[in-house]
Amino acid sequence: ASTAEKMNFQTEVKQLLHLMIHSLYSNREIFLRELISNASDACDKLRFEALDKAELFEGDGELRIRVDYDESAATVTVSDNGIGMSRDEVITNLGTIAKSGTREFFSQLTGDQKKDANLIGQFGVGFYSAFIVADKVSVNTRRAGLAADQGVRWTCSMGEDAAGEYTIESIDKAGRGTEITLHLREDARDLVNGWQLRQLIRKYSDHIIQPILMKKEAWDEEAKAQVKGDEDETVNQANALWTRPRNEITDEEYKAFYKHVGHDFAEPLAWVHAKVEGRHEYTQLLYVPENAPFDLWDRNARHGIKLYVKRVFIMDDAEKLLPTYLRFVRGVVDSADLPLNVSREILQESKDIDTIRAGCTKKVLGMLEDMATNAAEKYATFWQAFGNVLKEGVGEDFANKDKIAGLLRFASTEADTPDQTVSLADYIGRMKAGQEKIYFVTAESFNAAKNSPHLEVFRKKGIEVLLLSDRVDEWVIGYLNEFDGKPLQSVAKGGLDLGGLEDEEEKKAAEQMADEFKALVERFKTSLGERVKDVRVTNRLTDSPACLVTDDQDMGMNLARILKAAGQ
Ligand code: ADP
Ligand code: MG
Repeated sequence: ASTAEKMNFQTEVKQLLHLMIHSLYSNREIFLRELISNASDACDKLRFEALDKAELFEGDGELRIRVDYDESAATVTVSDNGIGMSRDEVITNLGTIAKSGTREFFSQLTGDQKKDANLIGQFGVGFYSAFIVADKVSVNTRRAGLAADQGVRWTCSMGEDAAGEYTIESIDKAGRGTEITLHLREDARDLVNGWQLRQLIRKYSDHIIQPILMKKEAWDEEAKAQVKGDEDETVNQANALWTRPRNEITDEEYKAFYKHVGHDFAEPLAWVHAKVEGRHEYTQLLYVPENAPFDLWDRNARHGIKLYVKRVFIMDDAEKLLPTYLRFVRGVVDSADLPLNVSREILQESKDIDTIRAGCTKKVLGMLEDMATNAAEKYATFWQAFGNVLKEGVGEDFANKDKIAGLLRFASTEADTPDQTVSLADYIGRMKAGQEKIYFVTAESFNAAKNSPHLEVFRKKGIEVLLLSDRVDEWVIGYLNEFDGKPLQSVAKGGLDLGGLEDEEEKKAAEQMADEFKALVERFKTSLGERVKDVRVTNRLTDSPACLVTDDQDMGMNLARILKAAGQ
């Protein structure tokens, strides 16, 4: 073995460690869930890499996780025979936080422990949660496929204050995989107890698909205590949750499973679990999170669907299984038809995958429709977190455009607040007699939309107008010509025809006015020259003297502004 080398943590890791020790103690139990979750992921990764490199199994294809403890040393150990880590991977994974948005996240911290604890929960602490209960953590690991002398030991000790550094050294490790030993803090010693640990495993990790083993214990008369024997027992159910019938799974089980697949600390907002039979047979268990992840706006960020074939894990981030505009969905799909040796290349081409994708999309949209109808408050939470992502679907998913349009929510002049609560169906339900179109205005901000001079005539007549001010809105609206047979109409477009909403008298008055001001309009045209296409007399305005409109065929002004800003 070489000598130990000291290394510094990335600044964000130091901050995270500090916060965790000081604000997550009341949630200390989660450490075990996080370590087991990682062990399970490591087994999945090995299974995936071994698909075309069976020698990685090193003759041992039975993946498992083990939890052990040592009373006299006050340690708890979690080990797995998964993929393990090379030296470089240890440094990257246990010395830095690679999540996108990390910097921004840390800049949001306030120093207020309660608030920060909440935030950190949303961020997710994973491996580092070990330090909630331990003042020293050591990790022995060897990557599958590397020689026994390529093992690595990572250690980090800290007292009251977070440590700034860790050490790393080479070791011999016969078995592949990772073994993490926690030296428990004084006040966490009650966890060094077989009964306690079993409780925690059943409570948080029952759904883990690999067996979680512990040594069997029996009462020993002489020692007057439970004593560990040599035999193993499996503590968790170790079956695939999604293969069980729905009515036998509790909400608690669904939620615990979500935290593992979703890498989330918060509970899911909703889920859908269904088995599809027929030409293609597959099971789907799909979740909508409550909070947006930090990398939501990165369209290349990891996709949250795990693909299984007949209960065997195939791959993470199976981006082909859902369209990009549903990238916030987490969960698993288990296919009965795909070949077990499926590769990424096969997936790209597979017709089966197209069918599964269409089915999953339908299920998710159905779940959202159901939420919108039956749980309006939940839907509002959803819309706030993911509405702007879902909107992309209007332009991306032609087959489901109407469904998605039905799920959209807008601010409008009805409430005149920025809250996006109005659906197109709500709007149509409130249309005035003789109104044929859905009117909207787009602007750079809610206030600009709300105060747009184009609204004056609509406000006067009591006609509702949708107020669109999100960046994507103009793009979305470009794909949405009509809803439920009613065309969408910008109030800022040319010869706005109010159709049945204008009475004869108003029309006559307008014509008269146009005549009266002919000479003035000519003078405007001459002096504005090339800069305008046309000048018109209007009865649209009540308070403002003039406003700009675009031609029916021209792009919206907001879009024009965006393109101009982008230098086009
Ligand atoms: P996450 O699980 O969300 O990626 P964690 O903080 O829990 O974040 O883990 C960080 C990374 O450390 C993991 O992504 C993985 O690469 C690595 N890691 C943690 N535990 C193990 C393990 N038991 N085996 C292999 N790699 C691990
Ligand atoms: Mg993790």
